Parts: sequence; structure tokens; C-alpha cells
Amino acid sequence: MGSILHGLNNAQLAAVTSPADVVQILAPPGSGKTKTLTARVAYLIRHYNYKPWNILCLTFTIKSSREMKERLAKLIGNGMEAKLVLGTFHSVCRRYLVTYGHLIGLRKGFGIADSSDSLSIIKRILNRLRFTLDPKAAQSRISSCKSKGVSVAKLSDEASKKKKADQQEFAQVFEAYEDQLDRGNLLDYDDLLLRCCDLLRQHPLCVSNVEAVLIDEFQDTNLVQFDLMRLFAAQRKRVTTVGDPDQSIYGWRSAEIKNLARMQTQYPETLVIHLQDNYRSSGAILLAAQELIQQDESRPSKSLLPTHCPGTLPVLRRLPSSDTEALWIVTEIRRLIAMTGRMLSHPDIAILLRSAALSRQIESAMGRAGIPYRMVGGQRFFDRVEIKILLDYLRVVSQPTNNDAIARVVNIPARGVGATTTKALLEEAETKKVTLWSLILDAIRGNVKTSTKISKPAEKGLGAFVDIILTAKQKLKAPLDPLSPQTLLQFVIKRLNFQDYIKRSYENDSEGRWANVEELLSQAGEYLIPSSSSVAEFEAENTTDLPDIEGIAQIDGDAGEEMLSMFLANVALATELQRDDESDDDRSQSQVTISTIHAAKGLEWPVVFVPAAYEGSIPHSRAEDNDEERRLLYVAMTRAQALLYISCPTRNSRGEESTLSQFLDPKTLGHYLINVGPHINTGFVSDVARILKRDCPAESKMVEESLKLESREDDLWPLDGQETPEQLKSWWDNKTSNATPHGYQQMNQPSAK
Ligand code: ATP
Ligand code: MG
Repeated sequence: MGSILHGLNNAQLAAVTSPADVVQILAPPGSGKTKTLTARVAYLIRHYNYKPWNILCLTFTIKSSREMKERLAKLIGNGMEAKLVLGTFHSVCRRYLVTYGHLIGLRKGFGIADSSDSLSIIKRILNRLRFTLDPKAAQSRISSCKSKGVSVAKLSDEASKKKKADQQEFAQVFEAYEDQLDRGNLLDYDDLLLRCCDLLRQHPLCVSNVEAVLIDEFQDTNLVQFDLMRLFAAQRKRVTTVGDPDQSIYGWRSAEIKNLARMQTQYPETLVIHLQDNYRSSGAILLAAQELIQQDESRPSKSLLPTHCPGTLPVLRRLPSSDTEALWIVTEIRRLIAMTGRMLSHPDIAILLRSAALSRQIESAMGRAGIPYRMVGGQRFFDRVEIKILLDYLRVVSQPTNNDAIARVVNIPARGVGATTTKALLEEAETKKVTLWSLILDAIRGNVKTSTKISKPAEKGLGAFVDIILTAKQKLKAPLDPLSPQTLLQFVIKRLNFQDYIKRSYENDSEGRWANVEELLSQAGEYLIPSSSSVAEFEAENTTDLPDIEGIAQIDGDAGEEMLSMFLANVALATELQRDDESDDDRSQSQVTISTIHAAKGLEWPVVFVPAAYEGSIPHSRAEDNDEERRLLYVAMTRAQALLYISCPTRNSRGEESTLSQFLDPKTLGHYLINVGPHINTGFVSDVARILKRDCPAESKMVEESLKLESREDDLWPLDGQETPEQLKSWWDNKTSNATPHGYQQMNQPSAK
């Protein structure tokens, strides 16, 4: 027990050990909410003798569920953490649906439509109906209806009563979309939650294993997730949630800050516990963050109490262009690492962006300076063309009902099935209300005469495609020796002659693309048949088998198919929050992280850069809620432990003039920020070491490293034609000698441009 409670402060202890059934922990960033929640799980097991499989623990991202599992492994050990029902809302719901979904009429082996799948379905519907709605807008409107529990029937009903044309159009699209998913035996992200709600409402017995529900980041749950909480806890009302209204950043995805208050209404006996002490960030970072969030006057005043030393002031820097901004960041990263005698290294550093689209300049500067980085939320691994093609093949093998996947790859590599034929076949299938797969089969076997005209070469191409899929399917189902996802992938790659295809299609870049294919192969290699401990390890979210209550669980006997669908589901869920799933491999141990702010939620880094802090970027030009944008910047700033850098180019990446974000107005934040990076001396390094609880490097090591940096300075900063070496040199000198507290005020005056 000692280790579970060790080092917790009084408020955290009270929250961890409270015998109350319903507990809500409300606290600012870095106050140990996630730590406390994790300790409570361990305490329930150790002190209250809960069995791990009776505890349901919901986190917001895959990464945080992994981290929680790692922390629990240390606290309770013995592999007990693997037996918890722990994961994101989506992965846990999928688990319940795989096991009990047949009770509500879900067909076996359903697939998951990720957001790009659902967008292509919507685009096709809009095309077919000749509506001019924006596909992305339609997609988010559908998602918003679903997360608010508005059904197609209700919407159509309202639309016809109100006789509003646009609403009627939308209702029609919504209906066709649902129909398409149903026919493809697909669930989208919202369905995973909604259908699980249906299941638990109709068959509450399915959650009879759940005795305690614990939820992190509760401020970002939506109404459906609130319902899920109630349903999961229906049998025994033991609920712990943690949240922070100041960090609510998912309003655009129908999250309801009000869920925090709603919980107290739902469970009037809720014990609310506040944590105040901040263990993450330096005092100076907290002061600036607090000053920012207080601009929202509607918010009750609260303070962030530092436990660390003040440290150095966060930096706000204006730079002439996005390119110079990127070079400045790269310069600063190298300087920090060298001059702290390598006490700081690449994985200690994160660059957090309002939107992934801003990463181009930074990525290219990092590339030129030879700094390894990993991109979270940008072009994700699973979105790369070569990976998508192979995954689509696997999807079709797993689920030939997936019309879109077929349409995307039926002619890759080119086999004579032109885009017009594919489109016509797809439309014909839709009109006839059959799947594209069965239409193709019927056509090439001469069972039906299609209204689509199929040329001889096209017919041959379709035959070749069908042959690959059918052979793969057969191998997958081989009763004695079913193919694992990896062997299946190797089979597909060989049959497609995929390496050649890549060489032919991407002359300049074929090696990199082939390396990605190899990476996919190695990821698929984690899924073994029959399920062994390594599968359990990899499937971090879904390891616990749910109980077979009264024999209603659907136990799948088809090992090959089951393993393939598990692999594909994990791929789909990994892309859910635009999160790259490469996070825990060896390479990330030495890389700088570039991430969207949204995907950085709940995480922390010693050094954080927040570039592109201009009007239109943050607050974003398309954002509806300015307060939510401010909270987003607040989340970004509070990820930093020791050093925070915010920057803003005078010209943005499109070359347009940009002004500093209204949130960083010098009038309010001027006293809390400085315009140059810290002077790195022994005092600075020992402060940072204390905050990070690291050993402070000897001064001689720091001097040695910084001398190395100076001697290499000439070749460190290759320029791209926009800036001269003199300019860079002058920044450098400026940074190291000319620190002006509050000085950025001068830089933001128009005359300083
Ligand atoms: P966020 O709101 O950003 O999710 P949080 O409230 O969940 O933050 P944690 O991530 O749990 O905060 O904790 C922040 C940091 O503070 C972690 O490094 C954690 O280990 C550390 N921490 C939390 N409580 C204590 C404590 N009592 N003593 C020492 N360190 C602590
Ligand atoms: Mg947290």
C-alpha cells in the first residue's frame, strides 16, 4: 500500500482513499488528477479488494490509457493491470459490442469506418443526390446529431414538419449515410458509443462485471458518453471522475462542460474534491498561464499554486516570417541541448500546433538541421498512400461489404478497371441495393447482366482482383493453419507485386515508401495466432475478456479472421484522435515531438514551443468559440514543465501579414513573458534540474558541449535564401546578450516591424 500512497499530498490522499461511492475531482492542469485517479484504481484493488476485471477505467487517448497501464503495472504488478477493463471510450465500447453486439442485432465481424471512410461515403452520397452541401460540414453535422442522440427518424420528422429545404436535404444525406454504413456492416466512431448505449440499456446484465467506473478528462465527454457512464455504473453506483473546466477543448465535437455539474445532479451524494498544488510547471509558467485564462471573466477565479521554483520567464518572440520562426526554434533546440550539457535531449521537447497544417516549415527546418522528430496528428502513418492501399486490401478481405475500400483499390495496381467503370458499378450497386462485391462477382461469373458496360480488359481486371481477395480469404479461413495478419499482408504484397508498383509510381521516393510498408509489416507482426501473451501486450486497450454472463457472449472461433479484424480495428481506433500510433517504439525515444495541441492533452514535456501564435491561427479563423480557443492555448502552455516558448511570425506561412494573437496582448501578459530565450548558465541549469528532478551536469560538461556548438555554428544553420547568415547571427547575439524583461512590448509596436 505504501507505494500507492507514497508522496501524495493531503487532498490527493483524500481523493484516493475516500470511501464515498461517487467522487468528482476538480482541479487545474498538472495538479495530479491523472496520478490520483490511477492511485485510486490501485487502492480499490489493494484496499477494497476489487478484482481488476470489475474495474472499468476510461481515458481520452490511447496514449494516456497506455501510460495509466504502465503506472498501474508499477503500483499493483503481477500482470493485474492487464486484467482491468481499461481503454478509451471507443475501444471499450468496441470490446462490448464485439462480445455482446449480437444481442442488439449487430452482425458478426463489423468493421469501423474511420473519419476518412465516412467522409468518402458522404461525398459519394452528395454526388449521387446532386446536393451542394459541403461534405466536411455534413460529416460534422451528422456526428453532432449522433453525439446529441438525434436519430435520423427524428430529424426527418422535424424536417418535414418545418418544411425547410436545407434540413430536408441534410436528413436525406444522413439517412443515406446510415444506410451505407449498415450495408457495409460498418460502425463509425459515434456509432461505437451509441450502439453500446443501446446494448447496455436493453441488456444491463452485460455490465454486471463492472463494480467501479473511473473516468479521466471528464470535461471533454459528450452527452452520449455521459449516458455511458450512467449505464456502466447502473448496477453499482461507484463512480470517480476527474476534470478541469478550464481545459475543455472539445466543444466543437459536442463535448459538454456541463457534464461536470450534470454529474452532481445525477448523483447528489457526489463528493467533490479540489486539488490545488501544481507539480508540473515552474512558477513563471504558471503565472503566465493563469494570467491568460483569467481573461475569461465569466470563469470563477481560481489559482494555480506552484510547488516548484519560479524558474525563467516564458518567452514570447516575434519573428519576420514562418521560415525564420522555424529556424529560430531549431536554433533554440540545439542551443538548449548543448548548453545544458545534454541534460535536456530531443524527447524532452515538444512543438505544439493549433493545426497540423502549420507543420511544414518546422518539419523542413528540423530536417535540414538533422533533428529527429515525430509528427503526431499530421499526415499519420496510416494515412500514407502506400499504407492505405494495403490496409484497404486487408479491409476487403476482412469485409467484402466495404464498398469504398473496393472502389479505392480495385484498380491498384492498374488492371484495366477505369474510374468511370468503378463509379458506374458503385452507383448500380447502390441503386440495386446490393454490395459492390456481390455485383462484381455476379458480373464476372455471368450471373447478371449489369447495366454498367464492362469492357473485356476491365472484366479481366475485375477477375484478377476477385481472385486475389478470394484466395486470401481462403487462406485466412484455413481451419488448421489460418494466416496471421502479417502473413496475409505478405501474400497481398507478393500478389500485387507491390514493391515494383512502388518503384514505378514513386520514382523519387520509393525507398521511403517501401520502408513504410516494412514498418506496417512489422506492426502486423504483433498479432499472432493463436493469441499469445505478445498479442495481449500489444492490444493494450482490449486485453480483458468480458465475462460470458449466462452464455450470451459471442465467442469467436475463427482465429485468422478475428485477429485480422482486431488489427484493423486497432488501426482505425489509433487514427481516431489524429494520433499516430508509433508513440512507443524505440525511435520516439530520441525524437522531438511535433503535435497538435488537441492531441497533447494530459501530457507534459520539459520544454514546449507554441509557434504561430497569430490571429487566425489561435484563435482560429473558423473557430466559433473564442473562449475555447483561449483554453486551447492554456492547455498548450500548461504542458510545459521548465521552459515555454511562444512565437509569432510577422508574416504567416502563406506570406500574409499577421498580428499577434489577441490572447497575448502585452497589456495583460507583458509582465509575464520575455522576448529572448534564457541565458543558459549554471543557475539556470540547476533550476531546470530541480524542476525535472534530474541530476545537474557538471559545469565542465556544459562548457565542453557549448564549445562544440560554437565551433559548429557555421554549418548548423543552412539557410533557405530568405535570411542571411548575418541575420541569424544577430538573433543569436541578441538572444544571448540582450535579454529585455517585458521587452517584447517594444517589438509589438507597429514601428518595430
Ligand atoms: P492535466 O490536467 O494536464 O491532465 P493532471 O492534473 O492530470 O494534469 P498529472 O499528469 O497527474 O496531472 O500530474 C502532473 C505531474 O505532476 C506528473 O508528472 C505527476 O507525476 C506529478 N505529480 C502529481 N502529484 C504529485 C505529488 N503529490 N508529488 C510529486 N509529483 C506529483
Ligand atoms: Mg491528466
